[in-house]
Amino acid sequence: MCDKQQPNNRGIAFFQDIANDVVANDAHEGDKDDYKIEIKWRNVFIFIYLHIAAIYGLYLPKQRSTVIIGWIIGILSGMGTTVGSHRLFTHRTFKANQALKILMMILQTMAGQEPVLKWARDHRVHHK
Ligand SMILES: [Zn+2]
Repeated sequence: MCDKQQPNNRGIAFFQDIANDVVANDAHEGDKDDYKIEIKWRNVFIFIYLHIAAIYGLYLPKQRSTVIIGWIIGILSGMGTTVGSHRLFTHRTFKANQALKILMMILQTMAGQEPVLKWARDHRVHHK
């Protein structure tokens, strides 16, 4: 047996490790009765800032190309979250090759949300 894995196998093992971590984290979640609501103040301030900045941005002078690129980035990053983190990594609704998985991780990162592993874990808890 050879100890070295082929580059393609290492990449697949990486994603399998992520999936196994998500499943392992699910197994340690407590009952719903143990759930305690906790306000994440860091997230509260980030969302307040982002909304104020978005409203401010509406009044700034901008070129048409900036608006178009902004819409494209918004749509792609939204797909990274909805298709990638949600449907692919959390619910495993479909199978994807390595390139699509990496693309979905990049697009999800562009959305400025949590890392895909944490996103998938939290969303699985949300569905329980
Ligand atoms: Zn879901």
